[in-house]
Amino acid sequence: MKKLVHIVVDGMTPETFERATEGRRAPALAFLAEHGTYRRATSVFPSLTPVCLSSIVTGAGPDVHHIPHLVWWHRGERRIVEYGSSFAALRAAGMAQSLADTIYNMNQRHLAADAVTVYEALEDAGYVTGAVNITCYRGRTRHMPTLPWLTRPAYGPKRFFYYSLFESDQTGAPLAVRDRAGGSIDTYASAVGRWLVTRDGFDLLVYYLTDFDYASHAHGPAGAEDVALARTDAAIQALVDAAGGPDEFLDRYAVVLHSDHGQTDVTDAARLETRLAAFAGSIVVAASNRAGQVYLLPGARTDAAELAARLDGEPAVEVTLRLEDGEAVARRAGEELRFRPAPEGWETSGDASLLDHPDAFQRAWSALTNPNAGELLVSAAEGWELMDMGGRHHAGGGSHGSLVAGDSFVPLLTVGLDAAPTRITEVAPAVLAHFGVVRALAHAV
Ligand SMILES: [Zn+2]
Repeated sequence: MKKLVHIVVDGMTPETFERATEGRRAPALAFLAEHGTYRRATSVFPSLTPVCLSSIVTGAGPDVHHIPHLVWWHRGERRIVEYGSSFAALRAAGMAQSLADTIYNMNQRHLAADAVTVYEALEDAGYVTGAVNITCYRGRTRHMPTLPWLTRPAYGPKRFFYYSLFESDQTGAPLAVRDRAGGSIDTYASAVGRWLVTRDGFDLLVYYLTDFDYASHAHGPAGAEDVALARTDAAIQALVDAAGGPDEFLDRYAVVLHSDHGQTDVTDAARLETRLAAFAGSIVVAASNRAGQVYLLPGARTDAAELAARLDGEPAVEVTLRLEDGEAVARRAGEELRFRPAPEGWETSGDASLLDHPDAFQRAWSALTNPNAGELLVSAAEGWELMDMGGRHHAGGGSHGSLVAGDSFVPLLTVGLDAAPTRITEVAPAVLAHFGVVRALAHAV
């Protein structure tokens, strides 16, 4: 059985992948596509990176892994958790706390203890796993930070590389954070990847490239192709070259390559807090990119149904979701649809076309039944973004997070893998099956 390279390109849409491979604009992607099986797959909701990467690594939705959003209200600690919506949002939430939440707590405290990661499952079976820059990294090996004044360890896979801050091996890679817009994070990843492939130092390598998403936020999903596609492709080519060439690479490795979510153009931004200002004191709003959550505080003088009705006619909001009497309720332009899982599919009442988004029932139900989710979930309308705590947005560029197709579909390519995943949550089980590891990763819905 071949070893496996698992490549995650943040924020790449299927359209970009298809154009890049059909036109051979991206030679490394085109080479892999020629040898593999391609399909469009679906992301989770909210289609935001911390939620998506946790789903990719645990093979489960937010109901199981418990990471609800980029920003959320921690009911137990009565505080906001902010994983990096923007620099301004990090500052608004408290810089030291936000860095601790992003670097450590997301994996050590927020990720559900009983959601097994692919690193844990494979290393328990005797395989060596590696992770480069992916934010869901929980494993069983203790790693000390490279900065001498940081003394708190992280627990990752055996081969663990995280933005120059954790490095299980000395690779000589340049610092990750020198020049974000110029692509220095993926340059770091490719130097590490080249080192690992040269030494054949893993059974599974999870190789996460983040710069394409960054460019897409700034320039929009189409604009990102001019700015960042060549760099993303070069970071993949680096692995192929390190193996000694294309044939040698595919002789040695199976490949799964996909993105975590799509992106759509945004032209307008709204502040959800302002729209719900009448409920100040009763609620906490956690919004960022194209999804929001509203939490009811203890003793709140409102409920999720009233909040949902208040957002009727709000142009930034396409759909709200809430749980009521054991059912999910989707509300769109004042109309409601109720649904819940049934032995065969979904039991619905109301107009099912209100929730006509990709894999919508499954994704909405998983988001709603996450214990860390707000009582009301908000999916933004096409073209709109919800400002973060720092008042930042990407209007004029691109964003993601909602249920709409452009945010939700991802390109997914497998080379030398038997399984054919059609959801990002199906990748981890496919990876375990490739290695012949039979293990339930987590509870299913
Ligand atoms: Zn993003």
